[in-house]
Amino acid sequence: MLKLTDTHCHLADPAFSNQLPDILKAAQAQGVHRFIVPATCSDDFQAVIALDEIPSVHIALGIHPWFAEAASEQDFHHLASLLKQYPQAWVGEIGLDFYDKEQTPEQHEKQIDCFCHQLVLAERLRRPVIMHNLKATSAIVEAVKKSRFTQGGIAHAFSGSLEEAQLLIKNGFKIGIGSLLLNPTAKKARQAAQNLPLKDMVLETDSPFMLKNTVNTPANVRKIAEIMAQLRHISLEEVAAVTEQNIETLLATVSSI
Ligand SMILES: [Zn+2]
Repeated sequence: MLKLTDTHCHLADPAFSNQLPDILKAAQAQGVHRFIVPATCSDDFQAVIALDEIPSVHIALGIHPWFAEAASEQDFHHLASLLKQYPQAWVGEIGLDFYDKEQTPEQHEKQIDCFCHQLVLAERLRRPVIMHNLKATSAIVEAVKKSRFTQGGIAHAFSGSLEEAQLLIKNGFKIGIGSLLLNPTAKKARQAAQNLPLKDMVLETDSPFMLKNTVNTPANVRKIAEIMAQLRHISLEEVAAVTEQNIETLLATVSSI
């Protein structure tokens, strides 16, 4: 039986409330047997932690760049104490989002501060991170260096150039290939899925987001893996085996703590 992991799904999102057992069953029927569930802000930490009870779920706790401006010193303390309490948790979803061109330099600074703070924490506690990156690769690399962050993790929903992907790989990140592949016009994501070494990639949906007019679910990892196999002219089994190995390597860093 084929085994796949959805390395980025927001299963604590209200879009899934009440239906979670069915969503997980439908995913498992497609071979998706493991789920990495990131938080986005201190308001959803408890909902994410509650999912840690499910054996196939691995959690991440962190403050997403969209919530960087509202993040308080108290939120960072809360995060640090929860990460100590849950030694298996990764740090995420953290990162930088410079997509909105109207952002001020102060807003960028606030995001960078919030990101660096969490990178330092992740380094200290030896946890991989789940990283959001929109139009911010060079600032991300700078922050990783400045924070002396070496634990690696996943650059999720990758949408940049091959050069940017290689830069992130060099800095210890696996590239998260996801639902953008379901859109035949998403050229950069297809280019990455086709050309990057398979040993540097993992699969994800970013459920419930990313699809127009419909709720995305982890079962779609199967479709993403199939498209990747077609693009690379290799078998679905090979895509599954190598991407599983990649995620196992990252998970091993927390289970050895
Ligand atoms: Zn996300």
